[in-house]
Amino acid sequence: LPQPELTALQHADVAALLPLPGAESDKYRRGVVGVAAGSATYPGAALLAVAGALRGGAGAVRYVGAAAEEVVRRFPETLVTEGGPAGAGRVQAWVVGPGGGEGARQALAEALASDVPVLVDADGLTELGRIGPSALAGRTAPTLLTPHTGEAARLLAGADGGAPAAADDLAARRLATARRLAAAYRATVLLKGSTTVIADPGGAVRVNPTGTSWLATAGSGDVLAGLAGSLLAAGLPPLDAASVAAYLHGLAGREAAGAPGAPVTALAVAEALPAVWRAVRQ
Ligand code: AMP
Ligand code: MG
Repeated sequence: LPQPELTALQHADVAALLPLPGAESDKYRRGVVGVAAGSATYPGAALLAVAGALRGGAGAVRYVGAAAEEVVRRFPETLVTEGGPAGAGRVQAWVVGPGGGEGARQALAEALASDVPVLVDADGLTELGRIGPSALAGRTAPTLLTPHTGEAARLLAGADGGAPAAADDLAARRLATARRLAAAYRATVLLKGSTTVIADPGGAVRVNPTGTSWLATAGSGDVLAGLAGSLLAAGLPPLDAASVAAYLHGLAGREAAGAPGAPVTALAVAEALPAVWRAVRQ
C-alpha cells in the first residue's frame, strides 16, 4: 500500500463539521439515531450509548433492546420501540453492539440489512468477527467499526481465515491495523486506544489529537459509539463522523478529568460534551 497522507483535525475543522440546527430544522431532519444496545446483563452500556447519542447533534434517539425501562427512566427524551432494528420506525443511522449480550447477533443482522449507516461496536464486533467481511457484502450504506485492539484482533481473525492476531502487536502498529481492517471489511474503522486512528476503505487516514488516559474507564467506549452514531444520523460521512466523535470525546474526557486530572466516569464524559461543543465553536 502507498503511504497515506496522515491528517489530524483541528478545532476549526471540527467546528465546521458540527451539525447545527437551522431555521428549517426539525427533529427528523436533524436525524434520528437508533441505538440497539444493552442486555439484561449489561443495561448500563445502553444508558451510556444513549447518553453519547443525545449529546451528539441528532434530533432524536430511538432505543431498541432489553434495557428500555432503565433508559427511559434516566433519559425520558428517548424514543423506545419494541422489537429489533427491523421493526423500528424512522432511523437515519444505527449504533449496534455495546453491552449487546445475548441479543447482539440478531440486532446486528437486522441493522446491517437496513439501508442506513451502521456503527458496530463491542459485542456487535465479536459477532462480525465470527462471520467475517461477508457479513457486510450486501450493504448499500456505509459501515463504521469502532474496535479497541482486542476487538480489532477478533475482526482480523475473521478476515484472515481464522489466523489469530495478538492484540499487543496490533497496538504497536495501529495505523497499519486500521487500514488493513478498513480494506478487508470495506468499512470505516475507528481503532481506539491511547492514540485513536481512523481509516476509511478509500485509503484516507486520520489520527485523533485529543484525549487523556483518564478515558481508560468502563463505559467510555459506549459513549463514543453513541456520539459517533449521532453524527452519522445527522448526515456526516463516516470518516468525518468518526474523526469528529473521537475529537469531541477526547476533549470531553479532558474536561471531565479537569486539571490536574482526577478519575472520570463514562457518564461524566457524556455530560461534558455540551461544554466541549461550545469551546470548539468559539
Ligand atoms: P472501550 O475500550 O470501548 O471502553 O473504549 C475506551 C475509550 O477510551 C476509547 O475511546 C479509547 O480511545 C479511550 N482510551 C482507552 N485507553 C486510553 C489511553 N490510555 N489513553 C487515552 N485514551 C484511552
Ligand atoms: Mg467498548
